[in-house]
Amino acid sequence: MQWEPVIGLEIHTQLATESKIFSGATTAFGAEPNTQACALDLGLPGVLPVLNKAAVRRAVQFGRAIGAEIAPRSVFARKNYFYPDLPKGYQISQYELPVVGRGRVEILLGDGALKTIGITRAHLEEDAGKSLHEGFPGSQGGMTGIDLNRAGTPLLEIVSEPDMRSPEEAVAYARKIHQLVRWIGISDGNMQEGSFRVDANISLRPKGEEKLGTRAEIKNINSFRFLQKALALEIERQTDILRDGGEVIQETRLYDADKDETRSMRTKEEANDYRYFPDPDLLPLELDKAFIDTATAELPELPDAMRHRFLAQYGLNDYDAALLTASLAMAGYFEQLTSGCGDAKLAANWITGPLAAALNKAELDIADSPVGAEQLARLLQRIQDKTISGTIAKQVFEAMWAGDGDADQVIEARGLQQITDTGAIEAMIDSIIAANPQQVEQYRAGKEKVFGFFVGQVMKQSQGKANPQQVNALLREKLRGKLREKLEG
Ligand code: ADP
Ligand code: MG
Repeated sequence: MQWEPVIGLEIHTQLATESKIFSGATTAFGAEPNTQACALDLGLPGVLPVLNKAAVRRAVQFGRAIGAEIAPRSVFARKNYFYPDLPKGYQISQYELPVVGRGRVEILLGDGALKTIGITRAHLEEDAGKSLHEGFPGSQGGMTGIDLNRAGTPLLEIVSEPDMRSPEEAVAYARKIHQLVRWIGISDGNMQEGSFRVDANISLRPKGEEKLGTRAEIKNINSFRFLQKALALEIERQTDILRDGGEVIQETRLYDADKDETRSMRTKEEANDYRYFPDPDLLPLELDKAFIDTATAELPELPDAMRHRFLAQYGLNDYDAALLTASLAMAGYFEQLTSGCGDAKLAANWITGPLAAALNKAELDIADSPVGAEQLARLLQRIQDKTISGTIAKQVFEAMWAGDGDADQVIEARGLQQITDTGAIEAMIDSIIAANPQQVEQYRAGKEKVFGFFVGQVMKQSQGKANPQQVNALLREKLRGKLREKLEG
């Protein structure tokens, strides 16, 4: 029998706010443990939560970016469970009435086709603290520490429909959401710091069957590579069970990257285990149209819309358009470069070529590129006005990257100006023809290929600086002359 994987993701993304969702403590990452948790985050009695408007605005913005309904009234609920990093004994979340309703995003599949993935809902909640198992006094003795700095950091939990059918689709969807939350600026999406975490639900069913199979949930995956691996492993594990006539049990599993396996954490709890009930300390969240409209007006042009505009406005191909809209910083760079040099195709080639290679090698984001769009535009202008050739431009670019100054300074300092003086190029050609009688003879004998040899010699003698079009034209003229000499002589 053939088994079909069915995957749905729950993505937790920390919202980029200064302070926590229900307290005034800072959300900055990386402080000494327990220095950024106030009485409320510690779950002390006598304090009340106050909802952070900025967190709500970001949730609304996400909803609008996925074409979802924003609930005019949503409710915060207590999700009750015990864990050492949750001192209150409950997490404030949204359950029955989430702020963001049904939406959708499009993902680009490997074969270039588009697929729509449904988003069931997105709700606001608070993050828990962290258990530390190493790297503090006492951990050597097997003790576990608790850091509550993270407690109360605003989270948006984005729940997808079970619409994905392979690990690749799941990764494409997760990447899409990651791109989107960063694009609209609601989260830094930093996966190393835990700002963007994925829980993957996966089940198998016989191909053609409608009914969903029993799923396992793999918790807290913090890289796209791990997501791919964990799902592939889980497909293998469940296939083995089902093939042997067994049953998959509904459970929560953990992906262990070191051992490259998933293992059971606990059998899956049911919603009613959590005794959800509306939080009596918080009023229902009521949003008026003005708030939603203002939040919406702050949204930048969205990635899909921009991709389509790039195709139409700049005549780019699908691949370049997708690449150049990978992030807002990338798209901004492209548009600035294009307006600076007036040639979208040239700009696209330079960004996806030399610039992307240099950024990759240095492991830098385009926002931190040592060569900015304006600087690069001035370099491309020197190709366009024929001061230098494209090949020399790559050399100049490397120097600019290394901090040797702007394009004109590098060209000047290294004497890289293109040689366009016909007399000078002719003189070089003459000396090369004189020095290579054998090749001239071959050319006369009809061996067209030696033409390339002559071009190479001129470029070599001019250190790459002779204008290639002129070299070609003059060389052809001179060699034809030699041919005529022979025929006439
Ligand atoms: P829970 O309340 O346990 O979190 P939900 O119904 O909210 O469960 O679903 C959580 C996620 O699991 C969603 O992304 C959903 O698409 C996915 N999911 C639900 N059932 C299945 C299934 N049988 N196989 C794969 N994914 C599933
Ligand atoms: Mg859930």
